[in-house]
Amino acid sequence: MCIFCKIINGEIPAKVVYEDEHVLAFLDINPRNKGHTLVVPKKHYERFDEMPDEELCNFIKGVKKTVEVLKKLGFDGYNIVNNNGRVAGQEVNHVHFHIIPRYEGDGEVVKFGEVKKIDLDEVLKEIKE
Ligand code: AMP
Ligand code: ZN
Repeated sequence: MCIFCKIINGEIPAKVVYEDEHVLAFLDINPRNKGHTLVVPKKHYERFDEMPDEELCNFIKGVKKTVEVLKKLGFDGYNIVNNNGRVAGQEVNHVHFHIIPRYEGDGEVVKFGEVKKIDLDEVLKEIKE
């Protein structure tokens, strides 16, 4: 059983921020900023696109609810990050959205890599082929 399933089952403790029938939201054990929270569906799926539409709707609603709860922290903005696959930095193979509250002047908490020179027309052609 994966580590997040163990948290959902209560086998491993977590600092729960929000919970409903479909999702559990808890503080990330290695916070990148104050209030860094992970939202996970209670049913195990590895990747975002593997979730059935209806469950995805309930999950996204849970993500929004969690943002509402976190507003108590007085953030100025927030990033939502979802990694899929090892190559994308996914360490825990149970779907999770990171909600990372952002505060004015908090620095480069979440950043994209360098801009690459990529022919957009070629990319689009490959997608549409
Ligand atoms: P990712 O790299 O997107 O798979 O993110 C996994 C996240 O899970 C990391 O930010 C970890 O700090 C976090 N994490 C791992 N184990 C736990 C745990 N037991 N409780 C809370 N967060 C955890
Ligand atoms: Zn799991």
